[in-house]
Amino acid sequence: MPAGPSIPPSACPACGGALRAWRRVPGSDPAWPQPVTLLRCASCASAVTDAPAPREVHDAGQYATAAPRGAGHAALLLRAFDSHRLALLRAAGAGPPTRLLDVGAGRGRFVAAARAAGHDARGVEPSARGVAAAQAVYGVQLERATIGDVAISPGSLDAVTIWHVLEHLDDPAGALARVVGWLRPGGVALVGVPNVASLQARLGGPVALHLDVPRHRTHFTPQGLRALLRAHGLEPLRTHHVLGEHNPFGLWQSLVSRATPTPSWLFHVLKRNAPLTPRDAVPTALALPLAPLAAATELLAGLCRRGGTIAVSARRVR
Ligand SMILES: [Zn+2]
Repeated sequence: MPAGPSIPPSACPACGGALRAWRRVPGSDPAWPQPVTLLRCASCASAVTDAPAPREVHDAGQYATAAPRGAGHAALLLRAFDSHRLALLRAAGAGPPTRLLDVGAGRGRFVAAARAAGHDARGVEPSARGVAAAQAVYGVQLERATIGDVAISPGSLDAVTIWHVLEHLDDPAGALARVVGWLRPGGVALVGVPNVASLQARLGGPVALHLDVPRHRTHFTPQGLRALLRAHGLEPLRTHHVLGEHNPFGLWQSLVSRATPTPSWLFHVLKRNAPLTPRDAVPTALALPLAPLAAATELLAGLCRRGGTIAVSARRVR
């Protein structure tokens, strides 16, 4: 993904509303601890990171490792997350076989899962690290390109997944406009993003896990994301708030970050991106038994439509 411009956005990237200063928050990655200012939209309450993204932001810090700790043990869990994402697609009318593109495919795990489920799936991914891992781990050949560079025939896809990608882009509208053009009329998009209007965003405040500044550029509310989709010819079908992939851990970690000097310390340790410091380790260890309570709280939040991340399914109507 391209480095961000140094000029702040003049309007909400989600809905075009006016932006106002909101809050100062510490950098979320030990590689970039400097505080940044968030602006907030007066209309949809989405927020924007008002600081440039370092050029290497998607290849350094927590993104530098090719092999997170415990990845082998998490395989079953990851398979369950992929199955759920496939189920969300099916529920939106995009059951296999479809011509499916995973936009920002990361390590290619979901492309492999979608192929195994019978989709004609491929992926596009800008980072060399992701493309190499996809080949090595899943035997999947991703196309290495950005959304702006990749050549896809207009109207040639039945479905696209844009999973935790839009929040990384300085121009999510421009990217979405391009992706929508690849969908056939009636084609389905499944879009996942963190939810800045979630319970865990409120409880974690400036150290909420999914803020991930300065890497995350736009912090969407469900309202803001749906406005962005509608503006690009996608009619939202459903907004899902109960998602196992990021939400239960996000609530627990956001709460624990209130007590540790390093924000999201355990998360960064798992990504081999933070040292084993006692001042972080002790409160984290004490909080581990509270994980089931955090998961139950997040489930309730999701049922009340305040989930830590959301997935919106939408259909191309024009
Ligand atoms: Zn807005």
